[in-house]
Order: sequence, then C-alpha cells, then structure tokens
Amino acid sequence: MKRILELEHVHYAYHTPEGETPALTDLTFSVNAGEFLAIVGPSGCGKTTLLSLIAGLLTPEKGQIRIYQKPLSESTTNIGYMLQHDELFEWRTIYQNVLLGLEIQHMLNASTRQHAHELLETYGLKQFENARPSELSGGMRQRAALIRTLVLKPDLLLLDEPFSALDYQTRLNVGDDIGQILRKEKKTAILVTHDLSEAISLADRVIILSRRPATIHQTIPIFFDLNNDTPLNRRDTPEFKSYFKLIWKEMNEHE
Ligand code: ADP
Ligand code: MG
Repeated sequence: MKRILELEHVHYAYHTPEGETPALTDLTFSVNAGEFLAIVGPSGCGKTTLLSLIAGLLTPEKGQIRIYQKPLSESTTNIGYMLQHDELFEWRTIYQNVLLGLEIQHMLNASTRQHAHELLETYGLKQFENARPSELSGGMRQRAALIRTLVLKPDLLLLDEPFSALDYQTRLNVGDDIGQILRKEKKTAILVTHDLSEAISLADRVIILSRRPATIHQTIPIFFDLNNDTPLNRRDTPEFKSYFKLIWKEMNEHE
C-alpha cells in the first residue's frame, strides 16, 4: 500500500519567556493512502501541535516529515485541516462559506463552483445554500465545514477534535455522518481526539499517545467484520467494548 505520510523521530517544544515546554518527543509513524488513523491522548498532550506540524504551520525541531517521500516543505500535496469549531462566517451564506477556501487559494471557477454545488446536494445541504450558519443545527454546520474542506480535494485530511463542541447525541450522529462521508470519498484522514469511543468508531488504526511531551505508547489496528461498517454500527458490537477496554487499559497503565 502507498504511504502518503511519514514522520521520523519528530520533536517539538514551545519556547516562551517562562521557559521551554516540550510538546512532542521522538514521534515515528506513517499513514497509508486511504487509511483512517485516529490518534488519542489526554488533553494537553500535544495533539493539536502534532496536526499543526503535519499541516506545515509549525516546523519540527528535530526529525523529518515526508509526504509521498518528499520533505513536507517541498510537497505540493493538498492537505485539508478541519478544526474543533466550525468557524463558519455568519455574514456569508452556507454556499459562500463553502467557497471560502477556493477563493483564498485562487481556485474559484465554473468547475469548482459546480463541485461545491454537487457536494452540498449529495450531503443534504442544497436547500440551505442561501441560509446563514445560525439557521443550521450544529451537526449541519459541521457538515458544511467538512464540505468546505472537501471541495479543495485534499489528499490528506486533518481533523482536530471536530465533534467535541457538540452535545453527546449530536456528536454520535455527526461522527457517524462524517465517518460515512469520508469513507465514501475514500479520503486519507488523521483524527486527533481525547474521546476513545470516537476513535474506535471511526478508525482503521488507533495510536495512543502518552502525556505531554507526547510519545507513542501503543498502536492498535481496528477491524470490524460488518456488512455495513459505519461508526454507529460499530458501537453496537461486542468487539467495540473489547477495543474500548483494551485501549482504556493501555492509556491508564501509562499513568
Ligand atoms: P492537545 O491538543 O493535545 O490538547 P496541544 O498540542 O494544544 O495539546 O498543546 C500541548 C502543550 O503545549 C500544552 O501543554 C500547551 O499548554 C502547550 N502549548 C500549546 N500551544 C502553545 C503555544 N503557542 N505556546 C506555548 N505553549 C503551547
Ligand atoms: Mg488540541
């Protein structure tokens, strides 16, 4: 299988007037094309820092990050980044919000506009194209934010606790929804979360991080033998509980 991303011995620390805060130490892992990887770890362990490094917003102090064998700085691969809060602008309609990334990247043309309309239609937001974000439910806004990222055709999608601002019920539904969209679009995705269940319900593999400075504690492959392998169906199986117990134990053994 083709490797899209490789991290080798990546270190990162924040330097402030108060001193040095080591955030990540010696992270080595890779991600295959088409894979859905979840990375779990306690709050403050360095998850957002890790995604910022992969997105190229921060540069490792030591170590290498490569995309399709090329150093990140030389890569032309399109990386999409979806944040914890949907960050939709109220002064723009849903359609205009979806076009934002295309505008910024000077990619707005008849064909990309068409693609935006198609995604909004496929994922049930066509009748809300002219609505303002405040007219949509939290789940629908999150879906619009995902479409805004997908319309840029990212080869790699980074998701930073994308459901954590939602209430429990909505979180389950939106997780199911977005998980199914990403599988349908065959995207390579990295999800970071402190929510074990979310990771197990969505991922092909879970990496468990230690407390800050984060290092890899364990890697657990996830497989569900389901005809209709969706996040909600996974939650209904006995295997789900076994994975939960296993990962819970691994996380707490480390304390
Ligand atoms: P997580 O996303 O897992 O909650 P972060 O990657 O946001 O963790 O942060 C990891 C650690 O780095 C935390 O201890 C945090 O306080 C610190 N940190 C994050 N951003 C900065 C910054 N800009 N300057 C200094 N320290 C930071
Ligand atoms: Mg974070």
